[in-house]
Formats: sequence, structure tokens, C-alpha cells
Amino acid sequence: MSQKTAGACLCGTVRFEIDGAFESFFLCHCRRCRKDTGSAHAANLFSTVARITWLSGRESIKSYRVPASRHEKSFCERCGSALPRVQAGGASLVVPAGSLDGPVGIRPSAHICFAERAEWDERLEDISRIDGLPD
Ligand SMILES: [Zn+2]
Ligand SMILES: [Zn+2]
Repeated sequence: MSQKTAGACLCGTVRFEIDGAFESFFLCHCRRCRKDTGSAHAANLFSTVARITWLSGRESIKSYRVPASRHEKSFCERCGSALPRVQAGGASLVVPAGSLDGPVGIRPSAHICFAERAEWDERLEDISRIDGLPD
């Protein structure tokens, strides 16, 4: 069964399509992922079978690797949005969940590096949920 999901960056320069299923979905709370995303955690999908097709803007993709580490990110040079990347020499596709425009297909597998979470990242399920912007 083929399962295709489309995605794009915020400015629309980079567009892609992913063909195949994801195997895991991790919410990483490590310090590097918090810096990288500017948020509480990264939300990355992983697949060893899915293939990515770049539909536009491939020349606008830049990447950064933290020296002497495995932490790497790909992003649009115009808008800075996180983008998919191939890692482990092509063996694994990593896709930031927020870059997708269609359904992800799986639930998050786990919170990881949870011991490194931000000090405010605690009992978030207890706070108000507002459907739009606050007054
Ligand atoms: Zn962009
Ligand atoms: Zn991390």
C-alpha cells in the first residue's frame, strides 16, 4: 500500500512529497532540540523505507551540524523552516512532523531525553486550551 504525504516550508519555496510509512515518531526534549526548534521539543518522524521526492526549492535547503555531534538540521534558507533530511548515509529519513501538510499516520512513539526537558515543561496537560488566540 502506497502512502503519500506532502509537505512544504513556511514560505513555500521548498516542497516535497514522501512515499511510504513512518516507523517511529519521537518528541525529543534534549537541549539541542530545544535550541534548534525554539520550543519545548522537536517532533521528528523516522522511516527506513519511505522515499522523499523534492518538488521544488531543493537548492534553497541549507543544513547545519553541531560540531562533534550527530545533531543536524536542514532548513529553508529563506524562511528557516525545518525540513526533512536523510541520515545514516541514506538509511534513514527524518521528517519534522510540523513540515507535513497531510496526516502523519502514526501517534508519537515516546518523549525522549525527557530528563533534559525545560523547567516549564511540566504538567502541560493541566493548562487552558484556547481554540484561537487569547483575548
Ligand atoms: Zn521557506
Ligand atoms: Zn534532541
